Amino acid sequence: MEGGVFCYTSVVRYLHHATEVVHMTTLLITHAYIVTMDDRQREIPDGGLFIRDGVIEQVSATPDLPSTAEEVLDLTGHLVLPGLVNTHHHFYQTLTRAVPAAQDANLFTWLTTLYPLWARLTPADLFTATQTALAELALSGCTTAADHLYLFPNGARLDDEIAAAHEVGLRLQAARGSMSLGASQGGLPPDALVDSAEVILRDSQRVIEHYHDPSPGAMVQIVLAPCSPFSVTPDVMKQSAQLARHYGVHLHTHLAETEDEVQFCLQKFGQRPVGYMQDVEWVGEDVWFAHAVWVQDDEIQVLAKHHCGVAHCPTSNMRLASGIAPVQAYRAAGVNVGLGVDGSASNDGSHLLAEVRTALLVARVKEGLTGYSLSNASHRTLMTAREALALGTRGGAAVLGRKDIGSLERGKCADFCAINLQRLGFTGMHDPVATIVFGQPVHVDYTVVAGKFIVKEGHLVTLDTRQLAEKHTQAAKRLWQAS
Ligand SMILES: [Zn+2]
Repeated sequence: MEGGVFCYTSVVRYLHHATEVVHMTTLLITHAYIVTMDDRQREIPDGGLFIRDGVIEQVSATPDLPSTAEEVLDLTGHLVLPGLVNTHHHFYQTLTRAVPAAQDANLFTWLTTLYPLWARLTPADLFTATQTALAELALSGCTTAADHLYLFPNGARLDDEIAAAHEVGLRLQAARGSMSLGASQGGLPPDALVDSAEVILRDSQRVIEHYHDPSPGAMVQIVLAPCSPFSVTPDVMKQSAQLARHYGVHLHTHLAETEDEVQFCLQKFGQRPVGYMQDVEWVGEDVWFAHAVWVQDDEIQVLAKHHCGVAHCPTSNMRLASGIAPVQAYRAAGVNVGLGVDGSASNDGSHLLAEVRTALLVARVKEGLTGYSLSNASHRTLMTAREALALGTRGGAAVLGRKDIGSLERGKCADFCAINLQRLGFTGMHDPVATIVFGQPVHVDYTVVAGKFIVKEGHLVTLDTRQLAEKHTQAAKRLWQAS
């Protein structure tokens, strides 16, 4: 046992073993409404999937599929879509949802209120919080999640999170975060929560070497993710980029989330956030930014030119009164955009399908605020339900740099979710795809990763959610009562 929770070498061995088990099966899905999200945006009203060894072998009309498999599931009345991809989260924050003193605060006040609580986090807390967030995500149709862990109090390690995710069964882009700019140096976090560059870089290298799997179908990939301009020194930004590029792993950070951050960057670095990123060599197709709300038109062009990605987190941006990211402008410029529920202390829930709906609605609010009207409707378009779903699927995959997920196509990972459309809240709907975006957010009926059921008939099958909730409640109470 290491870190009080698990031994990482045994997990790696177990991961390989689990992959071998998945490779023994074939799965046939029939009679569903298939939304492929492929380049042709094919939808197949009576379609299905044939899956072998955790990979999609065929996507077609039901009569054209093989007639049998080791497991056959008739999904008449269900919509099947690629597994949703979450591009930004902080799993540990499930333990500090709706903390009264942080309910009605903007980003900087919210952070300084919560840092002392987060400083009490233990490895076991991190394990429990990770499973809670991933269980919620799985029930909302998510099959791949990126998580940004940037504080490591009391011996907590990224390893705890990776072990927890393995038990739930979702793919994990584990972003090894860091903070090195404490309050005494003009940063936002307390000095007790920041680490030296040496500690950060040594552990970053360790987790890459132990866990990063660059191959198609990887269950775990490592990302390097210094937290934000106001909590990390320029040196750690630069050195993290060099280390990531040496190993071929991706880079992630918060950027331009609030106007306060823009002012911080101007005062501290003499640059707006995007210019600062260029100075520390944080632009490229291997970089994606969370939020990117406060950007000017020329900065959107910089992100497009360098093929950077954006994790759009609309609920969090509303919750913290941060603003509305210019998603339609990003899309028009060719910037890859995915969706993120963000940490559970600034969204208070990890429902990725709900985030798809919110992304559509907020994009329309922005259009309304910038002059959309009947008189110019002919040359401006509103975000559609299918475009919003694309952000949550293939958009997220592009942001993470994963070509093996995000659409239902031959050769891609067998990652999908299915939703029964026969529900009271969906009656009277006239478009099966729009139903799940315009309609009330629901839990999915099936979530499948690499051909393996994570959610079946509406229930998580890999963990007991009642026991998990009890354990999580106790951990959250202990953190709170110690304050
Ligand atoms: Zn965040």
